[in-house]
Amino acid sequence: MPIHVLPEEIVSQIAAGEVVERPSSVVKELVENSIDAGAREIRVEARAGGKRYVRVSDDGCGIPAAEVELAFRRHSTSKLTSAEDLAHITTLGFRGEALASIAAVSRVTCETRAADEPVGTLLRLEGGQVVMRRESGRPPGTSVIVEDLFFNLPARRKFLRADRTEQGHIDAWLTRYALAYPELRFTLVQDGKEVFRSPGNGRLRDVLIAVYGLEVGAAALEIVPPPEAAEEGIQVYGFVSPPSLHRANRGYITIFVNGRWIQDALLSYAIVQAYHTLLPAGRYPLAVVMVRLPPEEVDVNVHPAKSEVRFRDGDMVFRAVQKAVRRTLSEQPAHALPHPHLARPVPPSREQDEARETRRERLAALSTEQMTLDLPPRSLEVRKRLPPLRVVGQVSATYIVAEGEAGMYLIDQHAAHERVLFEQLLAERKESRVASQVLLEPRLVQLSPEAASIVSKYTDLLERLGFLVEPFGGATLLVRALPAIVAQVDPLQVIEDVAAALSTENTPMPLPLEDAVLRHVCKRAAIKAGQVLTYAEMEQLVRALEQCVNPHTCPHGRPTMILVSMEQLTREFGR
Ligand code: ADP
Ligand code: MG
Repeated sequence: MPIHVLPEEIVSQIAAGEVVERPSSVVKELVENSIDAGAREIRVEARAGGKRYVRVSDDGCGIPAAEVELAFRRHSTSKLTSAEDLAHITTLGFRGEALASIAAVSRVTCETRAADEPVGTLLRLEGGQVVMRRESGRPPGTSVIVEDLFFNLPARRKFLRADRTEQGHIDAWLTRYALAYPELRFTLVQDGKEVFRSPGNGRLRDVLIAVYGLEVGAAALEIVPPPEAAEEGIQVYGFVSPPSLHRANRGYITIFVNGRWIQDALLSYAIVQAYHTLLPAGRYPLAVVMVRLPPEEVDVNVHPAKSEVRFRDGDMVFRAVQKAVRRTLSEQPAHALPHPHLARPVPPSREQDEARETRRERLAALSTEQMTLDLPPRSLEVRKRLPPLRVVGQVSATYIVAEGEAGMYLIDQHAAHERVLFEQLLAERKESRVASQVLLEPRLVQLSPEAASIVSKYTDLLERLGFLVEPFGGATLLVRALPAIVAQVDPLQVIEDVAAALSTENTPMPLPLEDAVLRHVCKRAAIKAGQVLTYAEMEQLVRALEQCVNPHTCPHGRPTMILVSMEQLTREFGR
């Protein structure tokens, strides 16, 4: 094919691909325009996850009648006039690409009226071409309707996910902007139902409550800006969770730079680092951190969707964020800070005693017959099975010492119990009868928008595993039932685990999702290291382990036991 210049239509579709990835990108760009237009009230409506319909309306400055068509042309913006301006951008938009890109791949209706003009304009475009224009009698402000996204790009349309997933992305964007702009009132309506509203009273804590619920909102610590910060020209403010409040992943850390949501692994690390030794391993804080610095200190023109930025002095920003968070944590009254988590056995409390009681019942219920039902013929597996073991005792409230013909066994009680529970659940699932426990009171749990959307997407799969979970609007889920083995655990923890397990779909080598969920459930339900066990409990656990098909590893592949052979003992003692 000879070299030729691409037709304008194709050029604009290619350009659109960089800005408009999915319905939530439309929401993000339109909301940014509304914020730039000085709106106080921004309302977003979506249908079918935004695939069919998105409407963003605001009470901002509006577009003058003479400029409406121009707004939809590529590289047309009112926010930038010279290359110099690029160095100190104070608006969210500046590339002049969003409206043109959105219009190129959908059917757009824009109704707008500039505050100082007597009438407004209604403009309709299809695939970027104006198909209608008339006057409109609307009040000042703008509303943009985007219908049938990618109607002219079937290949892109195919990549859109289920409604719930797309809704989740829209939720995520809207809550981010609500957090970044507490003085604006945001409303989100999905399929006719209002799922989120921020109060718009300027108080970030109130937005936190709207997004994450009262528990988080009330406990969050306000970041106290250190006095020297102002001099350096960098301000850090917002909220972080106290060390007693944590989550299973970094998804609850939200960072804004000059009012722009950004993804920045280093800054997120700076925040996590500030909690060093304060959180249990593998747990992360919640944080909403706003960084303000002179516009010339940041290059925002790095990424088409503008979700990455480059700092002139990245180290300075890193230090400022870390210092601000550390200081906030250290200024808490001492009793609010837990002691650093040490892997030391703790004496069992009454709750633990009770939990142990139910555990004992569980172990007892695990009859030999039930366990062997689904096992492959003995001859195949006989060598991997454990010989009968005699329990000797417990070491460090973590390991069980046992003896067998071959020598001495040191068994990791947590890993071993995980294995036992896992095989029990596999057997139950095979028979489609995973034991489920309906909660006495259904429980509302508040997740990050991402976590909530992924859990909502898999409610059917979860039902097969003994869960009954329903989306409850926004990032809230209603938990009605849990697998019986985790019925005693805090539903929030269990559902967070599930979300973590389900997001393994994004890892390069995904496990079957059901297995991933079961593994997490077993991990949560299993006896922990540091729990003192009675002799009878150890016996039950070891008996159950003897029945396992794969007794030597936990479901995550770590060893459940170490064997010190008789020969080794003889040799070591020089007998
Ligand atoms: P950018 O935001 O980068 O300038 P856009 O394509 O998003 O580019 O918008 C083009 C122009 O249209 C903006 O510069 C602004 O002047 C105008 N505009 C878009 N949306 C609105 C709105 N909601 N209210 C007022 N003006 C708007
Ligand atoms: Mg814009």
